[in-house]
Amino acid sequence: MLLFIGNVDIAYHLASFGSVQRKSKIRMKRKIYWSPYSKRTLLASTEQEAENETSWKQSYETRRVPDQQDNTNDEEEAEEENMNRVIKELSQRFDWPKESLSSKKQVSVDPILFHEPSFLQSHSYEDFIKESEQAKKRNHVESMDTESFMRLFENARKGWLSCPQCKGLAPPEEIEKWGWCSYCHAEIDLKKSPAEILYPQEEEKKTDKQKKSDSIRNVSKRVVQREWNVSCSKRALETINPIRQLVQGMAVKPNPDKKLIPLSIGDPTAFGNLRIPREAMKVLSKVLAEDSAHGYSNSLGNDIARSSIANKYSSKHHSITKDDIILTCGTSGALEMIFNALCNPGDNVLIPRPGFPLFKTLLDNLGVEVRYYDLDPHQQWQIRLEQLPKLVDSRTAALVVNNPSNPCGSVFSYSHMMAILEIAQRLCIPIVADEVYSDMTFSGSQFFSFGSLSEYVPILSVGSVSKMFVAPGWRLGWIIIHDRQRLLETGNVIQGLRQLSMRMLVPSSPFQMVLPTLFSDSCKSDFVALVETLEDHAKFTVDSLSKIRGLSCTSAPQGSMYCMVHVDSQSMGFQDDMEWATQLLAEESVLVLPGQCFQAPHFFRIVYCAPKAVLNEAFSRIRRFCENHQTN
Ligand SMILES: *Cc1c(COP(=O)(O)O)cnc(C)c1O
Repeated sequence: MLLFIGNVDIAYHLASFGSVQRKSKIRMKRKIYWSPYSKRTLLASTEQEAENETSWKQSYETRRVPDQQDNTNDEEEAEEENMNRVIKELSQRFDWPKESLSSKKQVSVDPILFHEPSFLQSHSYEDFIKESEQAKKRNHVESMDTESFMRLFENARKGWLSCPQCKGLAPPEEIEKWGWCSYCHAEIDLKKSPAEILYPQEEEKKTDKQKKSDSIRNVSKRVVQREWNVSCSKRALETINPIRQLVQGMAVKPNPDKKLIPLSIGDPTAFGNLRIPREAMKVLSKVLAEDSAHGYSNSLGNDIARSSIANKYSSKHHSITKDDIILTCGTSGALEMIFNALCNPGDNVLIPRPGFPLFKTLLDNLGVEVRYYDLDPHQQWQIRLEQLPKLVDSRTAALVVNNPSNPCGSVFSYSHMMAILEIAQRLCIPIVADEVYSDMTFSGSQFFSFGSLSEYVPILSVGSVSKMFVAPGWRLGWIIIHDRQRLLETGNVIQGLRQLSMRMLVPSSPFQMVLPTLFSDSCKSDFVALVETLEDHAKFTVDSLSKIRGLSCTSAPQGSMYCMVHVDSQSMGFQDDMEWATQLLAEESVLVLPGQCFQAPHFFRIVYCAPKAVLNEAFSRIRRFCENHQTN
């Protein structure tokens, strides 16, 4: 019995090409080792080498030559199945006539062709036959049965090279490594070409240069291994939206007897009660009817739209122009573009906890490390500023702040913002300000933009029409560049952003045309009404929920559309906020997002955009649910 390394194909070669008979030639440089990885035997020169051969465990299987009796039938069947597969594949991929392959007839083959994987990979049946006919004239021909031929062919197609002595095929890296054939154990002179080994007289005529380029070593370098392998990029697979994942993980159905009330998604259009300003709709209809805005826009956005944003966000002390504005695919697109411009893989960015999950999703995708700083639930969700210096290092590319906040519903005070700016200045770190809820603040709170306050720290502020103007589907957002000390300009960040805007012409032409109207006085009353409604709903939410045992709003909302509610899930017999929210959905058909979605366990987030009657119904159900589950 002979043990050797190889797969079924190799076993076949051993048998069919007679290397077994040639075993007198075998020079046992290697011993046989038991491999704990593959639970099989390995040939190797030293034990260490055998241990190192972990890759063999994947690509090779050690089998016995067919004198072994066990499983023979199974193996034969598998062999035949494999053969049929190869026949089918070959005939499809290379237009090889099935009849030419299926019979057991003998095939005349030029053995040199099996040293030309690129030929076999790319040529048709006719080409192959033609070459073999030519070879016949040169006496370069061997006869083999179809099956052997096909096994050779299949492996040659993978880019494996054959041993000139026994024709057994092996991956080029292996031949390179050992310098001798793993089947017949003949030494392979890598400097020689296969033809030189097989037909020495004839090859004498070739020049040294020709010989060198055909050498096995060089051919093995030229081998391109192509097989069907359409696989997903690492990047894409690592792109995960935690909300989607967690919500899908909840894996329960709402109670079929109760209408679902989704207080989970931050889409103000969800219930139809909040609407885009009417005047803006008139303008949009007009723009569309005029057929005047169907063309490509400037990649940064058109001048009228950008000027209207610049006007809106200019302040007494700091005026901005259209050149400081880039239109984007919503706030999300703005954030993606900024992270792309500021960060290299391996850099890190500070983001809030609790916070909007998209920050992490985008940063993960770019290979940027996420570092969380905490917001204090008992201090109106202000930043725990003392944490920031500890999180920063030489590769910190940005501090992301989100004000007014999703999910917290908080609004930073003037003094807190000044404190943030002071620290950012001390740490020399630019601020990315997600201000998608700008001006959406309730009485007692005022919105300041970081851009208007920052004398020194560069601010990249982002916003959109999504929430302010109740039009998330428009996908129209912007970046406002505040760079009073020209720090971003010096570092080419602005140039980078402009270049990134050219990847795809994102800003949709008709929607841009409506921006001046949205920011004009004609839409002001709609905006004021929107915020009043939200404020009323926020108050109703806090009033209703804080009366429920086990729930508390540690900091009442000051703006945006959200409220974070603390839930003592254990007092209701639940493990955590996730289980609490899952069960609420199952029993009461009310969907809220567990705090875990925002890195904030023990909380859940409520979106209070729904009509008051709907909120009222939802809150009664939540009350009943909490009361039913109280354990004492
Ligand atoms: C909704 C939201 C966004 C995304 O806004 P789009 O303009 O729709 O992309 C970004 N940041 C925060 C904090 C949000 O709540």
